[in-house]
Amino acid sequence: MDNNHFDWSKTQFETRAIHDGQEPEETTGAVIVPIYQTSTYAQTGINQTKGFDYARSDNPTRSALHTAIASLEGGAWGLAFASGMAAITNILYLMSPGDHILMSDDAYGGTYRLIDKVLARYGVEYSMVDFSELEQVREGLRDNTKLLIAETPTNPYLKIVDIAGVAALLSDRYGSDLGGTALTKPLFVIDNTFASPYIQQPLAHGADLVVHSATKYLGGHSDVVLGLIAGNDDAIRENIKFHQNAAGAVPGPFDCWLVLRGMKTLGIRMREHSANAMRIAEWLKADPAVKEVFYPGLPEHPNHAVAKRQMREYSGMVSFTVHGGLESASRIVAAAKIFTLAESLGGVESLIEHPGEMTHASTAGSKAEVGPDLVRLSVGIEHIDDLLADLEQALEVGVPAGAAAD
Ligand SMILES: *Cc1c(COP(=O)(O)O)cnc(C)c1O
Repeated sequence: MDNNHFDWSKTQFETRAIHDGQEPEETTGAVIVPIYQTSTYAQTGINQTKGFDYARSDNPTRSALHTAIASLEGGAWGLAFASGMAAITNILYLMSPGDHILMSDDAYGGTYRLIDKVLARYGVEYSMVDFSELEQVREGLRDNTKLLIAETPTNPYLKIVDIAGVAALLSDRYGSDLGGTALTKPLFVIDNTFASPYIQQPLAHGADLVVHSATKYLGGHSDVVLGLIAGNDDAIRENIKFHQNAAGAVPGPFDCWLVLRGMKTLGIRMREHSANAMRIAEWLKADPAVKEVFYPGLPEHPNHAVAKRQMREYSGMVSFTVHGGLESASRIVAAAKIFTLAESLGGVESLIEHPGEMTHASTAGSKAEVGPDLVRLSVGIEHIDDLLADLEQALEVGVPAGAAAD
C-alpha cells in the first residue's frame, strides 16, 4: 500500500520491523494491514486501476510485505513468493542452457535438489565448493559462471561465508556492473534464512540478492510457508517479477499477513534465540557424550572472526556430533521432549533433528553428504533451564555413560 507518509528509513531496525510498509490503512484506520482476500480488483475504465488488477500479479497485503522486507534488508525492493524454494526457483529463471552455477557444498538440501535434479535437465551446469574458503570460490569460477549461491551460516555445519570477501573477489575479476539480466558479472545470491536480517544484511556487504525462507525466522512461529527476495538492481527485479507472474509462484494474502506479523518481533526473538543457543553450545562442549560442537558464536569456531565482523548475534542454530554414531544420534533425537523431533527451524519452539536421515537425506552420496553422528538443534525461546535439562536427559539416554569413547 502506498500510504507511507513517514520516512522510516531514518529509524532503527526494530521500529521499521513494526511500521515500515504497515502504516494504518487509509479508509478505515485499521492499525494492522488487512488481509485483502480478493482475486481481482474493480476497474473504473478499461485498464484503469488503483494499482492492482489481478491477485497473481499483486495484492496489497503482499505489497506491504515487499516494502517491509526491503526495509529490513536495506534493499531498494522486495518480492514475496509461495515458498523459499519458489523464491530460489524464480532467481534461477535468470539462467540459460550452458550457464554455470557455483553453489556451496553444504547447501540447503532443497536448493541442492533443485539445481541438481531440475536445473540440470535444462542444461544448466553447477559445481560446489566450500564458500567459507575464498580461494575455493575464486578457483570455482568458470567462464560461463552466471550465479553464485551460498548460505551463511551454512546448513548443517554452520560455516560462515565472508560475504564482503566474495563480493570483493567478484568485483576484482568482473568490475562492479551486473550488465542487467545479461549478467556480465555473476549474480551473487545469499540465502539469509539462518541469520535473518536482524543479524546480518548481506546487501550491505556486497551481495546482489538476498533470499529467504520466511517459513523460518522471519515468520518465526512455524505456521506459514513463504519465500522472500530483496535486492537493489531494477532490471533483475523486473526479470524475477516477470517470471513470478508468468509461472505463478505467488503467496496468498493470509500467508503474507502471518509473515508481517511474525517480522514485527524479529529483533527481540533473534536476541533470545542467540542467547539460548550460545548457552547450549557452551554446555554441549562440556558434555563427554559430545564429540564436536558447531556454533559460530564459539571463539574456537574456525570462522568466528568473520562471523563477529558480519553478524550482530550468532542466531539459534547449533549442530553437534556424538559418540556412538547413528544409533546414539537416533536415540537422542527420539528422547528429547521439549525439543520436538521435526524438520524446519526458526520458530519460537525448539526443534531437534538428524540431518543425515531427514533434511539432508537427498544429499547422500554427493559432496554435500553429512555424517551419521550429527544432530541439529533449532534453539527456541523457551526458558534456558528447561532446554538444558531436556538435552541433558536426552544425551543420557542417547549415549549411556561409558559409551563415550569411539
Ligand atoms: C527451508 C529453507 C529453504 C526453503 O524454503 P521453503 O520455505 O521450505 O521452501 C531454503 N533455504 C534454507 C536455508 C532453508 O532453511
